Amino acid sequence: MSLLAALLIVALATLLLFVLPARRRRRALAAPFPAAWDALLARRLEPYAGLEKAERRQLQDLVRLFLADKQFHGCGGLDVTEEMRVLIAAQACLLLLNRSSRIFPGLQHILVYPGAFVREGEEWHEDGTVSEVSSELLGESWDAGKVILSWEDVDRDLDHFGDGFNVVLHEFAHQLDSESGSENGTPVLSASDSDEWVRVMTREYEGLATAAEREEETLLDPYGASAPAEFFAVITETFFELPDQLSAQHPELFSLLRRYYRVDPAQWYRAPEDKLQ
Ligand SMILES: [Zn+2]
Repeated sequence: MSLLAALLIVALATLLLFVLPARRRRRALAAPFPAAWDALLARRLEPYAGLEKAERRQLQDLVRLFLADKQFHGCGGLDVTEEMRVLIAAQACLLLLNRSSRIFPGLQHILVYPGAFVREGEEWHEDGTVSEVSSELLGESWDAGKVILSWEDVDRDLDHFGDGFNVVLHEFAHQLDSESGSENGTPVLSASDSDEWVRVMTREYEGLATAAEREEETLLDPYGASAPAEFFAVITETFFELPDQLSAQHPELFSLLRRYYRVDPAQWYRAPEDKLQ
């Protein structure tokens, strides 16, 4: 390769990796956060009002960067409105507050269906046979840069924030998980956190699996016992929606997630006079 060709490749890579993203970032943050979006989030996203001022500003920046970077696609005849995009982005970005991670770098496309959607697939059986199955899904996260959501369920979860179920938090937790290279319930961690993560997660996962087998009532959705990746997505939903209950019933798990997510959602739901200083 000639020197000139090599220089051109370096210049092009610099442009694509640094110059254009920085420009897009500047442009996304140039105008103030729209008042209509602020009002929408205050009306529809329960934790928004409880965020500290700096956290709220951070979330507003993250939402704008998310929207500048990701593409939304309406499926099944759905017209994805600006309100839908902002509400989905804001919930996804709750997972990124106070963290230096980039904004779901592997994710490009968010597909939104009006309601639950059907996925055709194959089921492999122990005897080696395969059958065609179709499953009805509320959301799905693919490593290959895609999240699929049912708007009906996103909308319902916004109305019932605090019931422990949230399809956006669930699917975007899968995205964080996949950033480590495989979706296995262990996202990218600092080296000092890894041992404790494995110890606490293994114990809690096995505890949920045993409770689910015995059909006991659990705070955590028993669906989390189906695989470690689902466990991480389920505990993320509980951490953000029912932090007090998680902290009371699973204190080690709560403090592990508190360190990982770098927020204390319990504070968001307290009256200002009850917040810890
Ligand atoms: Zn899942």
